[in-house]
Amino acid sequence: MDPVLRKYASRATPRYTSYPTAPQFQKGFTDAQYRAWLSKLDPATPVSLYLHVPFCRQMCWYCGCNMKLASKYGPVGAYAQTLRQEVALTADALSDRMTVSHLHWGGGTPTALSSDDLEGVMDGVRARWDFAPDAEIAIESDPRTLTADMAARIGAMGFTRASFGVQEFDPAVQKAINRVQPPEMVRASVDQLRGGGVSGINFDLIYGLPLQTVDSLVETVKLCAEMRPDRVALFGYAHVPWMAKNQRMIPDDTLPNAAERSAQAEAAADALLAEGYIAIGLDHFALPQDDLAIAAQNGTLRRNFQGYTTDQAETMIGMGATSIGRTPSGYVQNIAETGAWARAVEAGQLPVAKGLPFTGDDRLRAEVIERLMCDNHVDAAAIGARHGAPEGWWQDATHALRDMEADGLVTLSGGKVAMTSRGRPLVRIAAAAFDAYLQDSTARHSVAV
Ligand code: SF4
Repeated sequence: MDPVLRKYASRATPRYTSYPTAPQFQKGFTDAQYRAWLSKLDPATPVSLYLHVPFCRQMCWYCGCNMKLASKYGPVGAYAQTLRQEVALTADALSDRMTVSHLHWGGGTPTALSSDDLEGVMDGVRARWDFAPDAEIAIESDPRTLTADMAARIGAMGFTRASFGVQEFDPAVQKAINRVQPPEMVRASVDQLRGGGVSGINFDLIYGLPLQTVDSLVETVKLCAEMRPDRVALFGYAHVPWMAKNQRMIPDDTLPNAAERSAQAEAAADALLAEGYIAIGLDHFALPQDDLAIAAQNGTLRRNFQGYTTDQAETMIGMGATSIGRTPSGYVQNIAETGAWARAVEAGQLPVAKGLPFTGDDRLRAEVIERLMCDNHVDAAAIGARHGAPEGWWQDATHALRDMEADGLVTLSGGKVAMTSRGRPLVRIAAAAFDAYLQDSTARHSVAV
């Protein structure tokens, strides 16, 4: 690993899919507060929707998500019914019918729902919201639960994009992470979805997994490239067995060390570039004609809870247990425990647990951090001027970046910060210099590389 990068790489840093980050959300946020925020939304401005399904049929040992194992379908079906109720309750809280520009089903595993239940919730959404003609409707899919019938019906329901957690194709690695899904299985799912009319395909890959090598990951990239997903995300495995007990199934001595992780990340990125993908932001790749690549080129790339996105909506309404949403007034997060979430919905309440009203300073720093994460450069002075910030407001942040400047990782000019090509893997650390909460925070974040 580049010895200069190594100096910084072990720093725990947020991923900045939001600012302020989720550990800052405050408990005690109420149904009444959220209703007040929703009622203020301008019905003429499109919104995004996020629908969360926390269930999975099997646990991946590397999982760091808040998921529930569903050995029987009963609770999953009941969850779908409640989710449909929440969709109606939320729409009732708006001042008028609104248009959706993006809808994302995430989890857990949304395809753990039956086709009928998935369709039932989508019918509930369409009954209460309109979709923009070019709306993106996306679903996280698992080839182990996606049936041919569901793939066809997902197409018929108007989904435009599906993502797959491929992670790694090597059979020994798949066994070590308890996620066995051979390339033929993934290929069949991709073909079925494309055949059903779902044109956008995303793959997620992970480096740093047990038994993984540079060769196995490069071979995985080659197999993936044959299936030609439009977008590929490449994440590092975060081994935190003290937080995610399932990760104790992964013996420490099967994990690649820091130098091997770094070599895997580099080799996978090089292989993706060689296959014709364009690097986007910190950890995404896309085919040049894909909307995400175009947004990255024209400076309109955005970052939200799902990572890099073309979604321009200022409001994302989250529904389902643990889902997070954003309105112009602030962030909101639903109750995590599915029983308590369902009881709140059944009592006619918006099932919120946490929230964070934005301050003017939050809005300013959120924009600076988002632009830096998306563009690898930012003009903090120009953004500050638009927000009415005092001149030189950025000086503490740029002062904190002097060491990185001396190491050739960033360039600083007044309020302008730009990552050098060598420093790009550390963009989270540069963004953290603008995070007003980080100094006081006790929350633990994953390492920067
Ligand atoms: S499918 Fe995703 S959410 Fe479910 S156990 Fe595996 S990693 Fe976790």
